Amino acid sequence: MSQALIEKFPCPPVDTNCIAIGCSEKMELALVDPGFGCLEWVEYLVKDEGMRLGKILLTHSHFDHTASVPALVGMYEGVEVFVHEKDALNVVEPGSDGILDLMGGVSGLKQMFGVQEGSEQDQAIDLAMTGVAVSHYLREGESVRVGNVVLEVIETPGHSPGGVCFYLPTEKVLLAGDTLMRGTHGRLDLPGCNEGDMAVSFAKLAKLPDDTTVYCGHGSNTTIGHERFQLQ
Ligand SMILES: [Zn+2]
Ligand SMILES: [Zn+2]
Repeated sequence: MSQALIEKFPCPPVDTNCIAIGCSEKMELALVDPGFGCLEWVEYLVKDEGMRLGKILLTHSHFDHTASVPALVGMYEGVEVFVHEKDALNVVEPGSDGILDLMGGVSGLKQMFGVQEGSEQDQAIDLAMTGVAVSHYLREGESVRVGNVVLEVIETPGHSPGGVCFYLPTEKVLLAGDTLMRGTHGRLDLPGCNEGDMAVSFAKLAKLPDDTTVYCGHGSNTTIGHERFQLQ
């Protein structure tokens, strides 16, 4: 019987999927890509479900995937932050990847989303920009454990230099971040993107079984079989 709990929470304003991976036997919890607005949901999992948040796992460091990391690190003692080395700087110094500059910096972002000065969202964005220390650099082929649940790391650069996917072999689940999405893939026109790398990454994902369920960084789930047309 499966011990893995897999739950998805779409974070505003661009529906970035935060995925909770839990081990129901050891009551351990990891969060993959905690974007804006997921704190109450995490609190529910920790307080009401009795899970212990031990790890934050990042598929990549774009701000819509990391926005709640500083808040969570402040709220839950001992939580570790895992990211690939090539995406780590943007976690330590948010905005250093240059993507926010394209939107006019932090103030441009606030304007774009109609954020009122002094509001809860305004404070959440300021906190998101404070940055945190990275605990561990993710590497190709390593296994990350959340209690008894095993996540295998697949390096998938292309959308970002240090992009990774997490594969749960016993669940036949892939957490794809912005690498692979339903009917499409992550943007390739941002600083740090590389089309050639993406093609190599897709060739790796093509080796997974057709019936692998794919949780994407945005939007609804898909399967490897359904996306095979774009992987090969
Ligand atoms: Zn992204
Ligand atoms: Zn994204």
